Amino acid sequence: MSCSTCKASCCRLEVMLITETGVPERYIQRDEWGGEVMARLSDGWCAALDRHTMRCTIYENRPFICREFATGSYECLNEREVIN
Ligand code: SF4
Ligand code: SF4
Repeated sequence: MSCSTCKASCCRLEVMLITETGVPERYIQRDEWGGEVMARLSDGWCAALDRHTMRCTIYENRPFICREFATGSYECLNEREVIN
């Protein structure tokens, strides 16, 4: 199983920014308490996802949570089931 057969299902999840990794401001959404998450567009996917290639456009600066998300993990399999 690999990400190439998946339409970036995990990039529709809410991604909280818990460490500073250099995510560009335009992709950050803040709540009234100062909490930061990756902005998502109306189609549900993260604003930093390339809609054509389904790849992350800020890979080098992606949030900690995206780095930790493991292919084949319970969360991954769960997301694939829901979306694909
Ligand atoms: S980690 Fe899982 S849900 Fe995310 S793109 Fe890869 S296969 Fe899809
Ligand atoms: S920052 Fe990149 S890896 Fe993380 S949810 Fe957005 S597109 Fe996906």
